Formats: sequence, C-alpha cells, structure tokens
Amino acid sequence: MTCTPTYRGDIMGYRVKEMIPGLDYEDLKKLQFDLNKGGLHLRKLVDDQVKQLEKKHSCICANCMADIDDRSAETYTLVFGPHDFRKKATFCGLDCLQYFLGNIKMIKRG
Ligand SMILES: [Zn+2]
Repeated sequence: MTCTPTYRGDIMGYRVKEMIPGLDYEDLKKLQFDLNKGGLHLRKLVDDQVKQLEKKHSCICANCMADIDDRSAETYTLVFGPHDFRKKATFCGLDCLQYFLGNIKMIKRG
C-alpha cells in the first residue's frame, strides 16, 4: 500500500463542495468577503472546530472508552501518522496504551 494524500484531498474537496450550495446568498457574500480579506474568519472557525474535536477525543480512552481525568498523571496520549494527517489517541492508563500498541503490532504483522 502506498500513501495517497491526493485521495484524502479529494474527499475533503467533495464535502466542502457539498456544503457550498447549502449556503444562502447572504452567507456566500460574507464568505466571499472573508476569503478576499485572507479568510481570517473562516480560518478561526476551522481552528476552533479542530480544537473542539481534539478536546473531545482526549476525553475518552481510545481503548476502553472510560472517561479521562485530564488532571490525572496516569493518562497517556499517543500522536502518530504523517505530519499533515496527525492522529491522536488518549489512554486512561498504561494497560490500555499497551493493549492498543499490541493491537497495532498485530495488524502491522498481518
Ligand atoms: Zn482505558
């Protein structure tokens, strides 16, 4: 299997393409204005949404789905994947992290 970054790009383009006809004229004019000014407003919206999702992800253990206490020193977060498509997984403890890594090892071996 080879890495296919353009495939991911196509998917994203498709989703955004679907979203545009759903906007009314006023929203489109606002978006057009923002983009002409460098898209700062749009960038902020996207940044905020990404932060929200990343926060949500780190609230639940990726292995056992337990709630994560973000003040606990026993939690672990694994960051992996290529730099343009980083993935994050948080674990409630060493056991869950180990189990997750073991699974990945098995999948990689096939
Ligand atoms: Zn867990």
